[in-house]
Parts: sequence; structure tokens; C-alpha cells
Amino acid sequence: MKFSQFNAVIPYSEKFAVYNSFTQRVIFIDPTLKEVLDAAIHEGMDELAKVHPTFHQYLSDQEFLVEDHVNEIHKVKDRVRMVDENIDSFLLTINPSMNCNFKCWYCYETHVKGSRLNNDIIARINTFIFRTANIKGLKNFNLSLFGGEPLLYFEKDVIPVLDQYISQCRQHGLKPVIHFTTNGYLIDQAFVDYFKGKDVVPGFQITLDGYREKHDEVRYVSANKGSYFKIIENIKLLIRNAFPVQIRINYTEKNVDGSHLIVNEFSDIAPSIIQKYLRFNYHRVWQDGKHDNTYLLLEENVRKVEETGVTALTHESPNHVYESCYADKRNSAVINFNGDVFKCTARDFTQVKREGYLDNEGDIVWENNSLQRRMNAKFKNKPCLSCRIMPLCNGGCSQLAIEFMESVDDYCVYSGNENEKMRIVKNKIKEIVGV
Ligand code: SF4
Ligand code: SF4
Repeated sequence: MKFSQFNAVIPYSEKFAVYNSFTQRVIFIDPTLKEVLDAAIHEGMDELAKVHPTFHQYLSDQEFLVEDHVNEIHKVKDRVRMVDENIDSFLLTINPSMNCNFKCWYCYETHVKGSRLNNDIIARINTFIFRTANIKGLKNFNLSLFGGEPLLYFEKDVIPVLDQYISQCRQHGLKPVIHFTTNGYLIDQAFVDYFKGKDVVPGFQITLDGYREKHDEVRYVSANKGSYFKIIENIKLLIRNAFPVQIRINYTEKNVDGSHLIVNEFSDIAPSIIQKYLRFNYHRVWQDGKHDNTYLLLEENVRKVEETGVTALTHESPNHVYESCYADKRNSAVINFNGDVFKCTARDFTQVKREGYLDNEGDIVWENNSLQRRMNAKFKNKPCLSCRIMPLCNGGCSQLAIEFMESVDDYCVYSGNENEKMRIVKNKIKEIVGV
């Protein structure tokens, strides 16, 4: 037997934790047993079977040891396939416009003035929705509105698509699941009333760039008009109507501190409502992604948010195999306002980068074998194949894998930094044992 490549042994509360990122099991051993284990890791597990047969048996029963012939990466591959090739579900994302009422400095997208859906594209999308809802055996059909800002032309452009989607879901016994990624500025009572009238509860991701002034430095309507207070009011409107909102905090080393104060803006709302319908999700602005001590400030702010009973998530606890990005999944597509089709929402939506298009019959045509190429992109990066947190990290996402496919360079989303990986392991153990 061999020691699983997904094991990590780290000091934990005066003991040592032995954690496996594939099985999500953890055991705690005292320092003497850790010494025995270290020797066995060095000399081979057969030695352990002789020296300490009960410990060997226990490690084997708990799957910290695996048979010598087992290729553990294949086990991760199977799991990834099971998730990403699942055809029970379809996730359709629509960018109704590539224009936006804000201009955040880090925004990766090229804003296209005046871009919006026209009647022809709306008709094609509606045919695509009709066909997808009719797929035999489909159990989940989710719709996501992205952009640009998806609420710019809500009434004229988005409602016709939503009407079709909701009606098709209802006709086929599917639950309409709608999600908006929006800056939240244009939400109003009429918007809420539309969904109330349809008896649908959409979910929201609304971005804030830190607390008050910090946010307004980035997200403003004009030089002297920020957006913070209006967005907070709109979030209150949503959660008072039982619409769940995830506040995505785009943090940098400059704005992360004090971000926990955002939760105080909701002090006029019953704690039970806030705890049920509001949660925080911290994401570092990728242009600011240095390996520094910002995580300490992050942890402190997250702790303060969680003390109020509101969940705060961070990327410090990835689960990217079971919860892989929508772009990694075969049954997902992003339709742009002009009918171009993409998979990933974190890159330019320019025509040269499109992966396909929506044809006149409302079918997606994938170009240049793009879909299959993406589905085959993972498991080619050398460092991932021997990495102990591969079952959590998934080697990053399919977009990253594609971008490095032609390159001779290896990559690691954590820059190969073992300390960062160990921090993830520690967070996972905390989640499992609760302390
Ligand atoms: S960059 Fe990766 S994780 Fe982000 S949307 Fe694209 S595929 Fe998904
Ligand atoms: S990207 Fe880095 S952390 Fe992730 S699996 Fe690959 S080597 Fe491991």
C-alpha cells in the first residue's frame, strides 16, 4: 500500500492532523505517532505494517493508504467527468447588453455602447429556450443574466426572454431558477413586482468594492455621485421581499479592511431576514492578486461578519471539483447580446474570441471544435498531477487550462506556494471539525 498523494499532515491544536483532500477525512494523531508516520512515509508503508500494524490497518480502513497500483489522478478525473458531463442540467447565461452604467477600473469586459438584444436575437434565444426545455430527461434548467449590466434595458429586452423561460419551465415541470449578476443600481419596485407577479424568486450577486467611500471611489455614476447608498437600499428591497442576495466584495489590499462594517447597514432589518437572505462572498480583484499578508485582514473581516450570523465565503476554501465553474460543464452556454456564444464569463466577449454562435433556428453552433477542446483541457498541467489538493482545486478552471494548453510553461493558481495550499488544508479541517 502507499500513502495517498492527497494526504497532508499538518500541526493542529497541539496534535497533528492527517487530512485527505479526496475523501475529506481527517484524523488527529499525537506527536509520537506522527514520528512513526514520518518514518513510514520515508521508508514505505510496509514498514509501518510491521512496526505498528493497528495504525497501518486504521490508515488503510480510512483510505489514507491506497493500493500501490491505484492511479489517484484517475479517481479525480472520474469525479470531474461525473460533474462536468452531467446532462441532467443546463445552465444558460445571457448577456442582454455589454454596456454598463459604471466603469470600474478592473473590469475586464469591453463595454459596447448601445449594445442590446434586438428582436431577431430575442426570437433565436426564445427558440433555444423552447428546445432546451423540451430535452427529454432534463431535470434542471437555470437561467443567469450577466453582462455588462443586465438591468439596463430590463423591461424591453429582458422581460420577453424571462416570460418565455418561465412559461417553458412551467410547461415542462421544471422549476424556473433565475440569477442576476448585477451592480444593483437599477433595481426598483417595478422590478420586484415583475417576479412577484410570476411567483418566481430570483437570486442575486451584487458587487460592492468595500465600505462606503472605498466603494464610491470605484463605482460611481458621476464625479460627485457615488452608488453605495443606493445599492444598499436596493439590496434591502430585495431581501425584504425574500429574494436571496450574495454581496460579492471585490477586495484589494486597500479596501478589505473595514469591509465588515457593510453588515451594519442592515441593522434596521430583522436579523432572521438578514441571516436567511444575505451572504457575503469575498473575491480578490485579480489584478491585485499578490501573495502577501492581505489574507490576515481578510480573515479578521470575515470573522466579524460571521459574528453577526451572516455567512461570509472566501476562496480560501475551494471545492472546485464538485462545484466546478459553469464554463467547465458541457451543458452550459453564454449567449451574448448579438448571438455570439461563449463559455467563460471572465474574458472579453469579443467576436474573435467567441466559441460559437446561435443560428437562425435557435441552435448553438460550436466553432473550431471549441466545446470538445474545453472538455478535454484539464489534467495536462504537470504540477497538478502530483498535487495534494487537486481534488479541491481541480487544477483551476477550464479557461485557465485552455490558456496554458499551447504553452510550455506550467502553472499553479496558488503560484506553487505550499503555504497557501496548507492554509486551504487548514480551512478544510476547520470546516470538518468545526473548530
Ligand atoms: S475564468 Fe475560469 S472560473 Fe472564471 S468564469 Fe472563466 S472558466 Fe469560470
Ligand atoms: S493549480 Fe496548483 S494548487 Fe491547483 S491542483 Fe494544480 S498545482 Fe495544485
